[in-house]
Amino acid sequence: MAADSGANGKGKLSVAVIGAGPAGYYTAEALTSDHADVHVDIIDRLPTPFGLIRAGVAPDHQSIKNVSRRYEATNNRENVRFVGNLSLGRDITLTELRDMYDAVVLATGAAKDRPLGIEGENLSGVIGSGPFVGWYNAHPDYKDLNPDLRVASVAVIGNGNVAIDVARILAKTAAEMAGTDLADHAAKSIHGAPIRDIHIIGRRGPLEASFTPKELNELNNLENCVALVNGDQLPGEEIDDMMTGAQRKNMTALRAMAQNEAGAKPVRLHIKFYSRPMAVLGDECVCGLRLEETMVEDGQCIGTGVTEVLPVGLVVPCIGYRTSPIPDVPYDDRYGHFENDEGLISDRLYCVGWAKRGPTGTIGTNKPDGIEIAKRILAEVEPSGRPGRDGLEKLVEERDLKIVTFQDWKKIEASEVAGAPEGAPRRKITDVNEMVRIAES
Ligand code: NAP
Repeated sequence: MAADSGANGKGKLSVAVIGAGPAGYYTAEALTSDHADVHVDIIDRLPTPFGLIRAGVAPDHQSIKNVSRRYEATNNRENVRFVGNLSLGRDITLTELRDMYDAVVLATGAAKDRPLGIEGENLSGVIGSGPFVGWYNAHPDYKDLNPDLRVASVAVIGNGNVAIDVARILAKTAAEMAGTDLADHAAKSIHGAPIRDIHIIGRRGPLEASFTPKELNELNNLENCVALVNGDQLPGEEIDDMMTGAQRKNMTALRAMAQNEAGAKPVRLHIKFYSRPMAVLGDECVCGLRLEETMVEDGQCIGTGVTEVLPVGLVVPCIGYRTSPIPDVPYDDRYGHFENDEGLISDRLYCVGWAKRGPTGTIGTNKPDGIEIAKRILAEVEPSGRPGRDGLEKLVEERDLKIVTFQDWKKIEASEVAGAPEGAPRRKITDVNEMVRIAES
């Protein structure tokens, strides 16, 4: 294939972005905004684009998912393509991609759960937030997870927004979830479950919690579930002036919860601070969680030696994520993401988003990240006449791979929308083969 003559007169720059989530799309958007001579292929192992927007953001937070319209607009550019159902490692190697494209950007997120590192964490009733959130969001990898929710009490470990999401989805009624795209299998299981107590457990105090006020407030407005906090664990108003705005708003919400009556609604959601998990108890399934009371000194959590056993039948650790390593890509084992210098891994190989900086920040945090990495690539990488998308197409044909294009995805989406129950945005398809069948129809 002859290289096009690009705006810089040196031909077309071809970039492969691995991962069609927010970080991948913001990178593609920034790379192509003023550069018709930059061609980007956004490659994803799933037939569906948008990564965490589809499979991470909670099903009852549809307004956050609307950002996918912006990614769709990026995808509508002539020089941007979505290549779904193409898996790095299974269908194509990183070496092949690096030979084919001028630059490769790893936007693969952080799909693995951070381990708790305590006794009993491998029991069947311990399900990390990665699989659990994927399950209720209809991620194909977790469609058969089938967590046993026939329990009276659940422990959700962590004080971040993922812990709040998990607790809220378990607490909401079928009516509250009616306008969402909660997976069918999850709706059946959650809304038939006998859960009466949900515990959100933080190893440090309310001032150190990383959840945000809007998300925390939602817990105080549930139809069937009352949020409870022990007021003794909250700081007095005399230190309000020293708090950040977010801490003050969180404290207002927590103080309101401390006034709630435990019997006000059938389900209780206990927000418990200064407790760190020591062991999950049980033989085959979970029957309890041993906790140690803590105190916080200079921001550090210190055990007091005082322990208790919380009777629970399910434990969902929501304690953060790690990027999945890729063979031959240097990996920072301590922080769980690729080793990189401001996004550069090695010559013409970059990373962005959670794969670069770890699992922090909102969807929007990926925008400046994408802009930065795009600037770097445009400044550092010269078009080299590599075949880019033509090379990929040849390989796809040779290997008889069933890739899914953006137009194909629109067919899958149309089928999901057509199948949605009244009032719901879509009924998500969970089976990759079914998606490919629809794409080919
Ligand atoms: P996070 O905010 O980092 O929270 C992780 C929590 O796990 C922290 O409370 C942490 O406590 C705790 N933790 C870590 N290791 C632990 C251990 N061994 N034992 C007990 N507790 C432990 O992470 P996240 O909730 O996974 O969220 C990831 C990112 O996505 C965040 O930036 C979040 O805001 C964002 N997000 C946003 C939304 C939204 O905007 N609606 C929804 C979901 C996620 P320490 O602080 O003591 O380490």
